[in-house]
Amino acid sequence: MTAPSAISVEKTALETYVPPAKPSLIGFSRAELGDKLGAIGVPPAQRKMRIQQLWHWLYVRGARSFDEMTDISKTLRSELDAHYTVARPDVVAEQISEDGTRKWLLRLPSGHAAERPHEIECVYIPQTDRGTLCVSSQVGCTLNCSFCHTGTQRLVRNLTAGEIVGQVMVARDRLNDWVDRETPNGNRLITNVVMMGMGEPLYNFEAVRDGLALLSDNEGIGISRRRITLSTSGVVPNIVRAGNEIGVMLAVSLHAVNDELRNKLVPLNRKYPLKELMQACRDYPGLSNSRRITFEYVMLKGVNDSLDDAKQLVRLLKGIPAKINLIPFNPWPGSAYECSDWDQIERFSEYVFNAGYSSPVRTPRGRDILAACGQLKSETEKLSARERQALRAMAMTD
Ligand code: SAH
Ligand code: SF4
Repeated sequence: MTAPSAISVEKTALETYVPPAKPSLIGFSRAELGDKLGAIGVPPAQRKMRIQQLWHWLYVRGARSFDEMTDISKTLRSELDAHYTVARPDVVAEQISEDGTRKWLLRLPSGHAAERPHEIECVYIPQTDRGTLCVSSQVGCTLNCSFCHTGTQRLVRNLTAGEIVGQVMVARDRLNDWVDRETPNGNRLITNVVMMGMGEPLYNFEAVRDGLALLSDNEGIGISRRRITLSTSGVVPNIVRAGNEIGVMLAVSLHAVNDELRNKLVPLNRKYPLKELMQACRDYPGLSNSRRITFEYVMLKGVNDSLDDAKQLVRLLKGIPAKINLIPFNPWPGSAYECSDWDQIERFSEYVFNAGYSSPVRTPRGRDILAACGQLKSETEKLSARERQALRAMAMTD
């Protein structure tokens, strides 16, 4: 059998984003906001102050209309309202689990008026010491990992920076988690963000970079870069770039310890094999014992879950400040894999733990949390214990 060409590992986006006639101001940089203000006649001398005001209303207070922005003159507010919005993605459905985990189905406009709008999901996972929001970077995915449901879907389009930030803003809206609204102890509920929803973030580099810069902006949403984790399946050239230009915590979807198996599970491995991937990880800037790379490892029964795999995993990660996230496989209709038995996950986890790696699958089974992994569910459908474990494992990245 001839090896499939490297080109076939990637899909091309069907659409590019078409901004609406009245665009949302969410997602623009300060400089871009200045241009938007200039376009509606705000004189240059006033722009810096206006940008600061808008920034505060949008990203600290979470204003949902220009009307709320009381220190901006009525005339300017109505001018803003005539040309722009502060819209975030629409919430189509919300699921709330008993333990407070919430999952939102969000609607994004499609590039063609005649077509159905697109849907992505976003999940909030509260834990004792943090609250993690899992956000998406693409509608569908550029790649086609064989165990991932998103991978079987087409790549519809990249999200914009505004749609990436918009997911966090929707979550803050729904949780009443803005600064001037009531939250326990005045603390924010959403303390961490993981880019582990739909899509491969490093194939949407600029929007992810700009979106994450906005999320971590100290004068705005202010989630520290150390509390943001970007998960990649291994887009090697962009890992280096991410280190230099984004500077958030890195998670790598490893899932296999040799090229033969990884080529099957994560076909991108044919383009960027393990040796190159591990080197990019070693070169990731700013690594230390307190700033480790998380290696995600989905537990697939009889495929990658033997103790020998565990041994090789430990060997592979030698010398890299690393954490290991064992993710119970979350099955989907038609998937070719099964989740490893719990005993096997525990044995595997114990091995890597004894080798010095924290391995966060310590979840008691059946805990009431929800799961994502790119699998849209209908509003009423119940999520299985396995799905809940998968998501919980993903949220444990620091
Ligand atoms: N595209 C990026 C981020 C999104 S996927 C990436 O691949 O890293 C987030 C994590 O969920 C990845 O580690 C991915 O491999 C894992 N995942 C995907 N489908 C899964 C499934 N069905 N069960 C468990 N984990 C899954
Ligand atoms: Fe895409 Fe990540 Fe799924 Fe692979 S695991 S298909 S990269 S979303």
